[in-house]
Amino acid sequence: MNDANNLYLLLVIQDDDAWIGNVCGFKYNERLWAEKCEDYCKRHQACSFEIIKHAVKNH
Ligand SMILES: [Zn+2]
Repeated sequence: MNDANNLYLLLVIQDDDAWIGNVCGFKYNERLWAEKCEDYCKRHQACSFEIIKHAVKNH
């Protein structure tokens, strides 16, 4: 187990003007949703449709 890697997984990634949930990789315009996504994914090992629907569509 590597605690440093687990901590890194808590971080959302900023990509241009969007935020990416580091677990499932969905992209959001607002950091709040990326953090909700990240938190939910870590707890449930899957994302929530209620959160994903706020994600930015990838073309
Ligand atoms: Zn997610």
